[in-house]
Amino acid sequence: MVTSSKPHIIVVGGGVVGCSLAFHLARANARVTLFDKGEICAGMSARSGALIRMHYTFAPEVELAWESLNYFSNWHESVGGECGFVCTGFALVVGDENSARMRTNVAMMKGLGVEVELYDGADLRRIDPSVKVDDIAFAAYESQSGYADPVATTRSLAIAAQRHGALLIANSQVEMILVEGAHAVGIRTADRHVFNADAVCIAAGPWTDTLLAPLDVRIGIKAERAQIAFFRRSPALNHLAYIDCIAGIYFRPHREDLTLAGLGEWQPESEPDPDDFRETNDADFIDEVRNRLAHRVPMMNHAAYLRGHAGVYDVSPDSRAVLGRVPGVDGLFVAAGFSGTGFKTAPAVGAAMAELILDGRSRTVDISPFCFERILSGHLIRTENEYVMGAGFGHSL
Ligand SMILES: Cc1cc2nc3c(=O)[nH]c(=O)nc-3n(C[C@H](O)[C@H](O)[C@H](O)COP(=O)(O)OP(=O)(O)OC[C@H]3O[C@@H](n4cnc5c(N)ncnc54)[C@H](O)[C@@H]3O)c2cc1C
Repeated sequence: MVTSSKPHIIVVGGGVVGCSLAFHLARANARVTLFDKGEICAGMSARSGALIRMHYTFAPEVELAWESLNYFSNWHESVGGECGFVCTGFALVVGDENSARMRTNVAMMKGLGVEVELYDGADLRRIDPSVKVDDIAFAAYESQSGYADPVATTRSLAIAAQRHGALLIANSQVEMILVEGAHAVGIRTADRHVFNADAVCIAAGPWTDTLLAPLDVRIGIKAERAQIAFFRRSPALNHLAYIDCIAGIYFRPHREDLTLAGLGEWQPESEPDPDDFRETNDADFIDEVRNRLAHRVPMMNHAAYLRGHAGVYDVSPDSRAVLGRVPGVDGLFVAAGFSGTGFKTAPAVGAAMAELILDGRSRTVDISPFCFERILSGHLIRTENEYVMGAGFGHSL
């Protein structure tokens, strides 16, 4: 908790998480300076699939997603500008091996107030006649979920932060977190400028451990290359957004006539450098992801590939974000390790982190289960109802 009446908080990273945090801090009347080594939203947020769903196996993640949906559905009022939210409906589909897990997870979600329904294949076909359901035991259907535009979302958060007085400094790399005694006192940029602050928060995605390294503490983030591809779709074919645990794929409509489909690290590759990785799709990825898509939506069997790209997931040791204080350094916070799922939760993460930094406790959602200490002590988050995923999906739910 910071004590001065208008504390100065430095945010490192201008992706969706850093911009959400800057917005919430500035709106709460803090003085905020955000640094990005590139342009705002030039990191992994710009490459996001931006699927918005509530289904997680860990209740605090459901809460973050559910709270964030309020923002996405009312963006103009809650943030200002546009986030490009499109409500398509979403279904997570599973086979027999995951039936019991899905029942438990849906009950957990309902207990948190999420609007989710447990359907069988026939029920799902009534909502979405385009899908093949013969191997589906259950579908968890969310009528309010969909997708957004990750660049519009991040930029409107940045503009809203500026409107509340935040200073955003692009093309300025933070080289070092400055610590005196055991307290973070500011940062030094690569061009040797020093900025003092009452607190610093690192929201630097896969680059986060590099900034922590001089402090002898690290999350243990593993960079993983992930790809998404856009296929042409007849506008007459309307499918929902999906995570398909059987085929091991996520996909969603994109505008009127495209389908976006994605996988994580679907086959082993060496750890990418987030500053220098292969940004285009691999030829065998395109065939693989189209086959998996067509398994669920047969009419996409010969869909023409339009374009696609890769990005880098910042995978933490338990595939869950690390949100909170950096142990051993007062006034230093981190929000990173989102493990391929951090777009949809960014609004609530920004709100909760701002509360933690300014008031000492998060109220929007209790983010204490995501604390850094769990990593250091080895008490990693494990949920009993984690789904068995089709090979190569790339991350846990
Ligand atoms: C291909 C792909 C598909 C995805 N699909 C989904 C999805 O469907 N749904 C979902 O919820 N999530 C998805 N994600 C995950 C989601 O996009 C990320 O979790 C989220 O965008 C992370 O935001 P961030 O702000 O933490 O990181 P980033 O957007 O990477 O921002 C970090 C910023 O920190 C800056 N930075 C780094 N080091 C420094 C430094 N030393 N000084 C100054 N600035 C620095 C970088 O330049 C960068 O702009 C996907 C990710 C990828 C890659």
